[in-house]
Amino acid sequence: MKVAMVIPPYRYGADPRQWITVPPQGYGGIQWVVATLIDGLLEAGCEILLLGAPGSPVQDGVTVSDAVEKAEIHAAIEAFGPDIVHDHSNTAALPANNHRPTVSTHHLNSVPELQTNGIYLSRAQRAAAGSVSAPVIRLPVNPARCQFQEVKDDYLLFLGRVSAHKGVREAAAFAHAAGVPLTVAGPAWEKDYLDALLADFPHTVRYVGEVGGSARTRLITRARAQLVLSQPWGGPFGGRWIEPGATVVSEAAASGTPVVATDNGCLPEIVPGVGTVLPIGQEITPGDAKGVLASLPTAKVVRETAVDRWGHHTIARQYLAVYKRAVSGEVWT
Ligand code: UDP
Repeated sequence: MKVAMVIPPYRYGADPRQWITVPPQGYGGIQWVVATLIDGLLEAGCEILLLGAPGSPVQDGVTVSDAVEKAEIHAAIEAFGPDIVHDHSNTAALPANNHRPTVSTHHLNSVPELQTNGIYLSRAQRAAAGSVSAPVIRLPVNPARCQFQEVKDDYLLFLGRVSAHKGVREAAAFAHAAGVPLTVAGPAWEKDYLDALLADFPHTVRYVGEVGGSARTRLITRARAQLVLSQPWGGPFGGRWIEPGATVVSEAAASGTPVVATDNGCLPEIVPGVGTVLPIGQEITPGDAKGVLASLPTAKVVRETAVDRWGHHTIARQYLAVYKRAVSGEVWT
């Protein structure tokens, strides 16, 4: 199939000509998801037009468009003539005059702008959007893009936005209780939150900033566990935060790194088998934290489970089936 993949164009750094690429230079959940999905679709014989990520690495079977405005995106889609348009931008980059068969993967947890032919990352996210029957397709992972290490170093990892709803403070409290250092990596746009974290956990937290490339891979691979203690409050739009898909879970698991998560949003659906789920608000004693770490599944089991559930071939097949439904004229909400 010919697939036009539309993602929201986000600027990277201070240079106005630089865009976050697929895969991203640093932070970038949607960009990692799309990179991995493209890996699977290419292996299934698809041809891809990538829109919204100028400057992305070129590879066989993928055309990287320079278009960022809706009118240019529309022209590029028309010139390509895709069987299906796959929107990841919640219409932010999708031309209003797009008339081709289209599906939209939703990456946030509000009610989406365009509900027609939506695809969700979890049942929790789908329910929050008010849909009961739209397909749920999990976030993919490509083991070739991860490293695997069976014996881990003695640190815990938080990787992501350093924000209250991502549960970085809860991660620091867990690590403190366990007596294990916590490496925190990711953009810290809420500086007060980061400062308070460093002031309150000076001997536990090591903040390394945003990471990309091999530094990111190494951090994920070597960690004893990744902490995803997502909280339902303090979401980016002031609302309740329901962790929609959690890219970090599949990435960590495919690297053989188990996950300790809360039961917020998608996490109780995906973490059992690759880690442990704790109830939101649970006070963690040193005994609890040590017990949780001691009972995590082994690196080998975690990796096998991740690849089996979320491997890029499996997820690409699920997307192809949904593309075919849209191409045949089926409409769902
Ligand atoms: N990430 C990264 N470098 C960083 C912080 C995060 O590459 O310094 C990546 C991380 O590996 C993941 C994504 O950014 O692929 C975050 O996606 P997730 O779904 O976990 O969070 P959200 O999209 O809600 O921010």
